[in-house]
Amino acid sequence: MSDPTHLTLAQARDALLAKTLSSSELAKAHVEAIERAGLLNAFITKTPELALDAARQSDARISRGEAGPLEGLPLGIKDLYCTKGVRTTAASRILDDFTPTYESTVSANLLRDGAVMLGKLNLDEFAMGSSNETSAFGPVVSPWRRKGADGFDAARIVPGGSSGGSAAAVAARLCLGATATDTGGSIRQPAAFTGTVGIKPTYGRCSRWGIVAFASSLDQAGPITRTVRDAAIMLRSMAGVDAKDTTSVDAPVPDYEAAIGASVKGRRIGVPKEYRLDGLSPEIAALWEQGVAWLKDAGADIVEISLPHTRHALPAYYIIAPAEASSNLARYDGVRYGLRERGRDITDMYEKTRAKGFGAEVRRRVMIGTYVLSAGYYDAYYVRAQKIRSLIKRDFDQAFANGVDAVLTPATPSPAFAMGEKGSSDPVEMYLNDVFTVTVNMAGLPGIAVPAGLSSNGLPLALQLIGRPFDEETLFSLASAIEQAAPRIEPPEPWWRDSDGARP
Ligand code: GLN
Repeated sequence: MSDPTHLTLAQARDALLAKTLSSSELAKAHVEAIERAGLLNAFITKTPELALDAARQSDARISRGEAGPLEGLPLGIKDLYCTKGVRTTAASRILDDFTPTYESTVSANLLRDGAVMLGKLNLDEFAMGSSNETSAFGPVVSPWRRKGADGFDAARIVPGGSSGGSAAAVAARLCLGATATDTGGSIRQPAAFTGTVGIKPTYGRCSRWGIVAFASSLDQAGPITRTVRDAAIMLRSMAGVDAKDTTSVDAPVPDYEAAIGASVKGRRIGVPKEYRLDGLSPEIAALWEQGVAWLKDAGADIVEISLPHTRHALPAYYIIAPAEASSNLARYDGVRYGLRERGRDITDMYEKTRAKGFGAEVRRRVMIGTYVLSAGYYDAYYVRAQKIRSLIKRDFDQAFANGVDAVLTPATPSPAFAMGEKGSSDPVEMYLNDVFTVTVNMAGLPGIAVPAGLSSNGLPLALQLIGRPFDEETLFSLASAIEQAAPRIEPPEPWWRDSDGARP
């Protein structure tokens, strides 16, 4: 086999079962690719020995005919998932030296099915961000470069966030697939920025147990992969009810792979007029129209729908998410986890630990969250934001009650931007990235980002499909129809390999 990192997850699975490739070879090729990709800074912690050891065990199981559904497939795990015996940082200084004694349910499910972990992937600190620039371990560099008039320009491009390490590693072929999490867009936006596929399943589809909490009523786990089929394969292993997370739902987990290539004839696709934002870039508007045309050609019926409360979603999200974050992050007090700074007394110790341990964006969220939950402001901000959340959910319920099977929107308002280009003077500029994705978390619905083309400067662009609760299957079939129709996006040339593992 020439270079097995070029296989899709499904192709690698089939090659392992056909014994034309061994899991050890596959793991070794990925370990080497990671070693040569230090410049991308996609991993916070690499676990090559564990990976090679797990691969040997997979090979033994394959030869005994005991292969699990993901047997021997090398994956990356977002460093927000607790991994037993392997450092888990949430990309924060406050958890710098935290090694969990337990495995998150979702990563345990992947290991149960035979997956091989290559290491822990970089992210925005506590998953707060849209560019991976808030990581205490440095930003992730996208494997994509922007094309200028004469070749590639010098600017480093962000991979999106918060799951920037996951998206960059998958796009750069450092792993066959990766876990990610999505509170307001952190699976779909980085997937969109890197030409990969990312699905945020329905709230409750995957267990949140053992995943470092950001905003518990919005957080969901999901995969980032190179194809829609690969996402279906991974999600099937990740999903399922868990007694340790009472918000996980006891609904059967279908064989999502069966939905790939299924007919979409007669499916009703809603196109929400409120997503046609003022100033929506012509390039994104054209991509969206192209998506409509592809689904129409595949036999779907297109209807215009109205989701009237859309414009309130972003401000409401940026109240609810920080409120829940401020409460969840209260546990990092210097006593139970990670970092502790010395202080005169316990209050001084708390203050010094939290001031040193949290980065600027996390501190901003804690302050906003504490403010909107405080007496006197709670009704004015938090309660109103919750009411808006109900209205947003009702808008979607209405569309689905009218027979819409899925909603088609752009995934992001722009292609990926350069490092330092957004949000440094005004954080709201960064928050605007989430305009098409946060509604989905607010309503608890499944959403998938699927690559659909390239921008005029050569960067990936994506469409988003939003589905009915627990109907990820429809999203997989529609996304695979788009994947079939869209022009093939050639993977980025591995320019990062020249630079010998230097950090950005
Ligand atoms: N970018 C959004 C935020 O910063 C969403 C992050 C996420 O989904 N984890 O809150």
